[in-house]
Amino acid sequence: MNHHIAIDGPAGAGKSTIAKAVAKKKGLIYVDTGAMYRALGLYLLRNKIDAADEAAVIAACEKADVSIAFENGEQVVLLDSENVNGLIRTEAVGNMASACSAIARVREIMVERQQKLAKNCDVVMDGRDIGTVVLPDAHCKIFLTASAKVRAKRRYDELVEKGVPCDLKQIEEDIIKRDERDTTRAASPLRQAEDAVLVDTSDMTIDEVIAKIMELSDG
Ligand code: C5P
Repeated sequence: MNHHIAIDGPAGAGKSTIAKAVAKKKGLIYVDTGAMYRALGLYLLRNKIDAADEAAVIAACEKADVSIAFENGEQVVLLDSENVNGLIRTEAVGNMASACSAIARVREIMVERQQKLAKNCDVVMDGRDIGTVVLPDAHCKIFLTASAKVRAKRRYDELVEKGVPCDLKQIEEDIIKRDERDTTRAASPLRQAEDAVLVDTSDMTIDEVIAKIMELSDG
């Protein structure tokens, strides 16, 4: 059986930083499922498709070839064979990803693609529904969280470091809005799997969180 680690949690909890580091330490492949929804979000923005038009979003999801490849151990997100790594980290794309991921049929298509990616590999996969839906048999499930304030501050620091103008209050409001949408949607809402371990990173450093996950996934 393959070695699967599932890391779920709200936006900005540090999932990707932690999952990437744990994957590297353990020699596993890291799969960022949020990046797949983001690639679809980018496709919708480029093609001026309204997220409220479900039929059009589903048709786009079936048509857009969103996949993940690995080059020199790094994840490359592909949208119709184009490397879109550098284009999917904006707030506009994130909000579009959140909106389209609430559609049940979109999730079905994405989950199937994600399960295929994990089928014959050892992976650390992060997202919102990995422990509950995508990899229900994962041998280690983590639910990573932090307060909305701490998550907003982390995102703000990240953007400031990149020289992107931003507003802390606005970021916190966006995070709360996205949490609300992710946890209340009808199609696999964000929730902790019954057998997942809750790790609140509000008062932890990145190294402390990595050490904690290494310990939990070794056990
Ligand atoms: O994790 P990230 O912020 O990149 O994900 C973007 C959006 O994609 C999230 O707000 C969430 O709505 C959605 N998503 C999801 N299921 C996943 C991963 C991401 O619904 N497994």
